[in-house]
Amino acid sequence: MYSAYRTGTTFDWTYLIILAILFIASMIASSSVQKRYKKYSTVFARSGITGAEAARRIMEANGVTSVPIEQKSGKDLSDYYDPRSNSIHLSANTYNNPSVSAIGVACHEAGHAIQYAKGYAPVKLRMSIIPFSNTCSKLAIPLIFIGFILSGFAANLKFIALIGIILYAVAVFVQLVTLPVEFDASRRALANIRSCAILAEDEIEGAKSVLSAAAMTYVVAMLTSVVQLMRLLSIYNRRR
Ligand SMILES: [Zn+2]
Repeated sequence: MYSAYRTGTTFDWTYLIILAILFIASMIASSSVQKRYKKYSTVFARSGITGAEAARRIMEANGVTSVPIEQKSGKDLSDYYDPRSNSIHLSANTYNNPSVSAIGVACHEAGHAIQYAKGYAPVKLRMSIIPFSNTCSKLAIPLIFIGFILSGFAANLKFIALIGIILYAVAVFVQLVTLPVEFDASRRALANIRSCAILAEDEIEGAKSVLSAAAMTYVVAMLTSVVQLMRLLSIYNRRR
């Protein structure tokens, strides 16, 4: 009994330390995206091409001609591709500036549009699970709580918590699939920026640095969810 309790305490500490490290990593990742975006916002491409024009060019080079690019009133780095309306939304800075940052970020979003147009498999998988996984994430935590509370009264009701944990795992799986999608969008962006001669070789390094910092935020978010899932499973196994 005592040793079981002690094992539990040790794990709690490990878990807290891992979560603290991941929390710090997420702060570092998001601040480095901001910093790098800001830094390369003042480095202007010698081609003079703006973010919006760059995104248009690389989509055209890939035969994607029907995706509108809209300017949004959001702050920097609020740029996104919307698969439902098949459109790109760029912040004012990304849309209008001929900077290395603007070109990198705009072309990353264009990379998503190209993925959808070409039927890139991880995107298809992600799109097919998302409606289901949204419902899963809404139900997961309430079910886990209810399951654990009820199991205090009747041990066989613990299965409700397990259902909640399985639903939580579906949401974690979506985050896992998001990683190849994000990495591939940046890879397409950089390859096309190069082949369309939008940035010179020395300028591409800046765009790469902004995009790799952005990718890190997805990696940290995914790791945090995996650790939380493992923690839930461990609590589940410890409860009798
Ligand atoms: Zn993206």
